[in-house]
Amino acid sequence: MAEIRNVAVVGAGTMGNGIVHVFAQNGLDVTMVDVRQEALDQARDTIRGNMDRQIKKGALAEADRNAALGRITAATELAAVAGADLVVEAATENRDLKFRIFADMDAHAPEHAILATNTSSISITEIAARTKRPGQVIGMHFMNPVPVMKLVEIIRGLATTDETTRTTVALAVQLGKTVAEAQDYPGFVANRILMPMINEAVFCLMEGVAEAEAIDTVMKLGMNHPMGPLALADLIGLDTCLAIMEVLHSGLGDDKYRPCPLLRKYVAAGKLGRKTGEGFYNY
Ligand code: NAD
Repeated sequence: MAEIRNVAVVGAGTMGNGIVHVFAQNGLDVTMVDVRQEALDQARDTIRGNMDRQIKKGALAEADRNAALGRITAATELAAVAGADLVVEAATENRDLKFRIFADMDAHAPEHAILATNTSSISITEIAARTKRPGQVIGMHFMNPVPVMKLVEIIRGLATTDETTRTTVALAVQLGKTVAEAQDYPGFVANRILMPMINEAVFCLMEGVAEAEAIDTVMKLGMNHPMGPLALADLIGLDTCLAIMEVLHSGLGDDKYRPCPLLRKYVAAGKLGRKTGEGFYNY
């Protein structure tokens, strides 16, 4: 099994900074890449802030934080993946963008490197087809917030090799995560089940079945969910939720997956949830 020492993360937003955090904390050298310098600066601040919180809880030593932060380098050019044994792409959930990024990563990453994607719903097989190494392309789907959540959903594309899968699973375990393997169908397992629930909660809100707080209270106290679906949608990002519903709708061809018009309206208005300060709730 190939040894993974150097990793790169492409996209330093909500998920990217969390993925960089867990890699660095577990002793890997990480290059984080984003087209926006501002996103890279913000990611470094977020990682430091989250590590400081771990220190306060006694879960991390100050010296280990400093060492972890020292293992992170930042770049605005994709060519910076040139030294990586494994790259995790965590850029915006958009098919054409990911196709472009994978073609570019394929050109810049070493021949032996595994190219993983954190996509929530886009086909691993289609992404892999944009590269000359489809056997080394795999879904490595972290959950939000990455440093806290235990699960990594591992998704094999049609061509993904056993070797690639074994190496990726071992890496996730090294990060202290638990793995669940899934096949490449729209939304895999996590979002095939989660997103229609969130979408239905938005329909309940749109139809006036209940207020947002009441909807979330029903699911928290009635179903023992740690968070209500609308608060969770705000955490995930409403644009990401909409993008995933569109993939389920077109990929599975069933109108039961049609995105709720109210979700579309919020995204059109730029109310994307926590990252913009306003979604179903104000932050
Ligand atoms: P985000 O909008 O917070 O961050 C995306 C980042 O990608 C931005 O900083 C953007 O500047 C950057 N980016 C855009 N084009 C780029 C390019 N060409 N090269 C490098 N960087 C580029 O999005 P996010 O919520 O972090 O989602 C990232 C991925 O993770 C998506 O595929 C999403 O489906 C998936 N995901 C999200 C969640 C969640 O809860 N938000 C959970 C699991 C998986």
